[in-house]
Amino acid sequence: MIKIDQSDLIKWLEHVRIYANNGKVVDYIPALANQQPETNAVAYYPIGGELIFTGQAEYKFTIQSISKVISLAVALIQHGDQAVFSRVDKEPTSDPFYSVAKLEVEKPAKPFNPMINAGALAVTNMIRGRNSEEMVGEILKLVRVLANDEQVTYDQDVAQSEYETSFLNRALCYFMKQHGVITGSIEELLEVYTKQCAISMNVKQLARIAAVFANDGRDPDSNEELIPPDVARICKTFMVTCGMYNESGTFAINVGIPAKSGVSGAIMGVIKRCGGIAVFGPALNEKGNSVVGIKLLEKLAAEKMWSIF
Ligand code: GLU
Repeated sequence: MIKIDQSDLIKWLEHVRIYANNGKVVDYIPALANQQPETNAVAYYPIGGELIFTGQAEYKFTIQSISKVISLAVALIQHGDQAVFSRVDKEPTSDPFYSVAKLEVEKPAKPFNPMINAGALAVTNMIRGRNSEEMVGEILKLVRVLANDEQVTYDQDVAQSEYETSFLNRALCYFMKQHGVITGSIEELLEVYTKQCAISMNVKQLARIAAVFANDGRDPDSNEELIPPDVARICKTFMVTCGMYNESGTFAINVGIPAKSGVSGAIMGVIKRCGGIAVFGPALNEKGNSVVGIKLLEKLAAEKMWSIF
């Protein structure tokens, strides 16, 4: 593994910025439609080293699907893997993240994995709490520990905007409720889910979260255990098999690290025993991944020999 420093980040971000022209900012969540394609940033948080970054590294974005890794970790910590995998399976789908198609395959409507929306909704449904506020609180509690920042919270406008337009996610919930995969109030579940997706931070904070996974669940600075190693391992495995939507196979070949993307244009990547990387660029390819983010990770992975394969 070759050392990475700030000049690498500057060089490669400059080099790949141009790819923003090949992508499109997401618009099915109205509040995200005004993100600017030229807002790009990258940060790298090494284990036991100093954070490096470049671009608009203070810019806050919502983490969207990246929150699925955190909610999975919370559910695994609270209930254990047997209980969680009785509600959601462990297999990639090769379908888009919002797809309803495979819910018909397994009976009773068990989602294929926790990284697609159906699976993430089933996982969030398991999180403890007497109401949506307490459930969101459980997710925020872990996010704040991982990011080492008590101020991290969700963006009210983005959460509300998605909540009001979550017709497809509502449909997934009703289907799963009919089959007993989820229980309780669907509106309350959607409230929790849209708030977890709207958790907002910058690339520096997201890189620190990735660094905890790179350090097998331990704080990258103090080495204190923040997530049990088995939970970190399960989360990283899902990042490899399903983290980049139905482009996870291509990403495994071209980059080769556990990673999770969100439709806001963020990607977090895990370089085992080295550090965490976070990239932001809201222009997306047709699979929903940041075009600048993917290009940047491809370049760095090739140059620094990051692939775990
Ligand atoms: N909140 C988004 C949704 O449920 C998350 C999707 C994503 O980032 O992949 O549609």
